[in-house]
Amino acid sequence: MSTVPAATLPLSVVIPVFNEESNLPLLFKRLYPVLDGLGRRYEILFTNDGSADRSRELLAAQYAARPDVTRVIEFNANYGQHMAIIAAFERARGAVVVTLDADLQNPPEEIPKLLAATDAGFDCVGGARQNRQDSAFRRYASRLVNVARREMTNIEMTDQGCMLRAYSHDVVAAIVRSGAINTFIPALAYTLSQNPTEVPVAHEERHAGVSNYSVYKLIRLNFDLITAFTTAPLQLFTMFAGFCSAGSLGLVFVLLFRRFALNLDRETFGVFTLFGILFFLLSVAMIGIGLIGEYVGRTYQVVRGRSRYNVSHVLETKE
Ligand code: UDP
Ligand code: MG
Repeated sequence: MSTVPAATLPLSVVIPVFNEESNLPLLFKRLYPVLDGLGRRYEILFTNDGSADRSRELLAAQYAARPDVTRVIEFNANYGQHMAIIAAFERARGAVVVTLDADLQNPPEEIPKLLAATDAGFDCVGGARQNRQDSAFRRYASRLVNVARREMTNIEMTDQGCMLRAYSHDVVAAIVRSGAINTFIPALAYTLSQNPTEVPVAHEERHAGVSNYSVYKLIRLNFDLITAFTTAPLQLFTMFAGFCSAGSLGLVFVLLFRRFALNLDRETFGVFTLFGILFFLLSVAMIGIGLIGEYVGRTYQVVRGRSRYNVSHVLETKE
């Protein structure tokens, strides 16, 4: 079971990096002064999530420039934003851990706002993006997911997608201990926290490059979100299947009644209607098998206990 080091610093800042060479220089330039100005000791953990561009060199150079506060975790391949964050969580020494995107969509200048909330005793502080700078499609999709998630999982967040967040050491330790494979960190943190809150934060356009999330990746992420936190889809499915069987049974009775009581449909009775019903039931069964397979697959992954990612090396200064 993974554990987290003891909290020996007031603050850790965790940043996943995937092909962000055009954003890193400005990120460094804006982030370090903000943190230096806080008057607390801190560390910044970058996880290079298998970038194919010059992010790795830039991070190594930044480590050389500020080895006192910089740590770089180098993945051997791309494991996704959430695994990158987990890897940093497993090494974070901060009493408060802040997560941040590398593309400057979350302004580093907003970090003090989150810290004000953690200082006030909240153990899970979500940033709620004010006038969100994403495509209209992303905004509407996000709103839809919000509603679905609230209905199915009891997780109350106005903005689950914002990665500018702060967690207490205990919440981070609990996230790491949970060992979830497909993890949607904001939702997981929320369920593991005692005293969550949200603060409004500014949101900017991506400084450079395009989002790493395709529609496909977003769908997968939301699938994670739902299956990881609730078995509601299974129950919905079972109810749906129940209605369908009741419906088709009713239909069969109607057909029998028409055929034998009213003596209608002499020619067409049977074959076509039954085929229709059969296909329908078959497709319902297929959806069910797929859904069950999803859960079984996840159980299998956990049972197998395979490590979730592989670190090729770490740049850090030992205490
Ligand atoms: N990211 C990552 N691995 C990935 C995809 C993204 O570490 O496979 C990082 C990326 O470098 C950025 C953050 O996760 O710091 C958010 O990614 P992005 O800006 O592409 O997502 P969006 O803002 O569109 O949700
Ligand atoms: Mg982004």
